Amino acid sequence: MAKELIENAIDAGSSRIELEFAGGGVTSLSVRDNGCGMAPEDAVLAFTRHATSKISQAGDLERISTLGFRGEALASIGAVSRVTLTTCAAGAAEGVRVVVAGGQVLRRERTGCPPGTRVQVEDLFYNVMPRREFLKSQAAETRAVMEIFGGLALARPEIAFTGLRDGQIFAQTPGGGDLLAAVAGILGRSVAGQMLPVEGETRIGRIRGYVSPPGVHRPTRKQQYFSINGRWIRHYRLAAVAEEACATLLPAGRRPLLVLHLVLDPAGVDVNIHPAKLEVRFRQEEEILALVRQAIHEALRRPGPGPDLLKETGVGPWSQQADAARGTVGPATGKLGVASASQGREPGGVGARWSGPASQALPPAAWQRSLDLLYAPGPEPEGGGMVPEISAQLPLELEILGQVAGTYIVLAGERGLWIVDQHAAHERIRYERLTRAEVRPWPSQELAVARPLDLAAEQALLVEQYLELLGGWGFRLEKVGPRTYWLRGQPLEVAPEAGWQLLLDLLELLEQGRTPAVQDEVYKLVACRGAVKAGARLNREEMAALIRDWQRTPALSTCPHGRPAVYKISVEELAKKFGRS
Ligand code: ADP
Ligand code: MG
Repeated sequence: MAKELIENAIDAGSSRIELEFAGGGVTSLSVRDNGCGMAPEDAVLAFTRHATSKISQAGDLERISTLGFRGEALASIGAVSRVTLTTCAAGAAEGVRVVVAGGQVLRRERTGCPPGTRVQVEDLFYNVMPRREFLKSQAAETRAVMEIFGGLALARPEIAFTGLRDGQIFAQTPGGGDLLAAVAGILGRSVAGQMLPVEGETRIGRIRGYVSPPGVHRPTRKQQYFSINGRWIRHYRLAAVAEEACATLLPAGRRPLLVLHLVLDPAGVDVNIHPAKLEVRFRQEEEILALVRQAIHEALRRPGPGPDLLKETGVGPWSQQADAARGTVGPATGKLGVASASQGREPGGVGARWSGPASQALPPAAWQRSLDLLYAPGPEPEGGGMVPEISAQLPLELEILGQVAGTYIVLAGERGLWIVDQHAAHERIRYERLTRAEVRPWPSQELAVARPLDLAAEQALLVEQYLELLGGWGFRLEKVGPRTYWLRGQPLEVAPEAGWQLLLDLLELLEQGRTPAVQDEVYKLVACRGAVKAGARLNREEMAALIRDWQRTPALSTCPHGRPAVYKISVEELAKKFGRS
């Protein structure tokens, strides 16, 4: 419903649109615009089915450029709720107010009002009570409205959007066509400050937008927004192709953030296949997908300062005032008043110790120290919990031969060679400890340099909802703006610069509610995030400590995701290889 009303406002040629809602959109929702408005007689007509002003000639259906054209939205909304429509056509001396409830016109009166339209919906489904039960929880409903608002605002950067929930602005875009500023308004300044521009053109059409740099990614497609000719859409293959173009740069299973605008010949786009017109079909799909693939590929490889993995967490201090003063938004530099990555991090401080090429460096022995601090000495192994095949064979005395490719630790035993994947093994150790942690809540590390993050409205809502739970996981968050937080502390387990990314991932998981499955995913995520990386050089003591812990861990033959952690080459196999058997 929010979508229908905002789309009507867009179709009316507005340059400003304001959405306001309360109670997850069920209690009340209104959309105000400064568009063309309606003449008094049209205002009543608009509530009748198939009343649309948008199809005037035959052939129009072929190249429809407005968002709605079925003339059903207002009629259906008026049938299940109480709607007040206030509208004034541009140039008219006065406007009209029409009240409709349960499909009946209750009132119609002249009124003074600014040019444009306001549609106010109250008591949705008031006359069809059971429907209410189908509505999701209020928090989920609120997030859904916010997501729709964000999708439409990102598709139309030329329109200034303001979103209010319970009287408070949750998101806002400046209009004027500045897409990066719209990204900042919807996905948050922290994200906008890192996005890389995407541009491309072929005879089939044009693409522009933004993609996240390699170090920034999410577990789901939540923050991927596509639009075609100003229409917000979802398109499975488009998302898949865009991801493919990023594939070698992202960890497996991770998804880039995307805001992409395609401009195509409308005749080649079929928007009629989906009732909410959210899915579309392309006539020249392959060519369009090739354009997308190529443009993203180039965006990620364009020479330049290069994506800084720490940028997300290195966002410097900024003030609300600076935010309000749009002057700080500079699309030319791609930075939104975001301070340089180095600012705010002290040499020698916690940040420095953990920094360096974040993906490789293992802080010397630091992970071990954090584990030691976190847990009392692990319980002695009880053979029962171990995977029998490996654990039964695994001798207690193993000699560490060395590390191969900074990734595999090679061990020698009486009956063969054991090759251990250091990351998988460490992940398993951490996972088992987390799931059985005697220590709750998880200990937190205070961050020497607190980091601010400007979140998307939905994310901020989840933080509010789960603040206590997040606290139990070691996150200390301080609210400094409607949706801006300082991260003051985070789980001891996790490297400082990985804290925000972990938090954002946890929020995406929590969106599904707090189920045991989600809880388990959280353990896996935290286990993975703090684990020693493949490619990290380990010295002998570090290898010895890791192997010692791993030998005492249940289910040690795989990582928590089920990939193998150890590979054995038996003396029999060796004998065979050497032609001795
Ligand atoms: P559709 O958008 O498919 O035409 P709707 O039921 O959404 O059908 O709206 C019916 C008609 O009401 C529209 O065709 C349009 O003429 C008019 N209308 C609705 N909302 C607005 C608005 N915000 N500003 C101007 N006209 C509007
Ligand atoms: Mg409509």
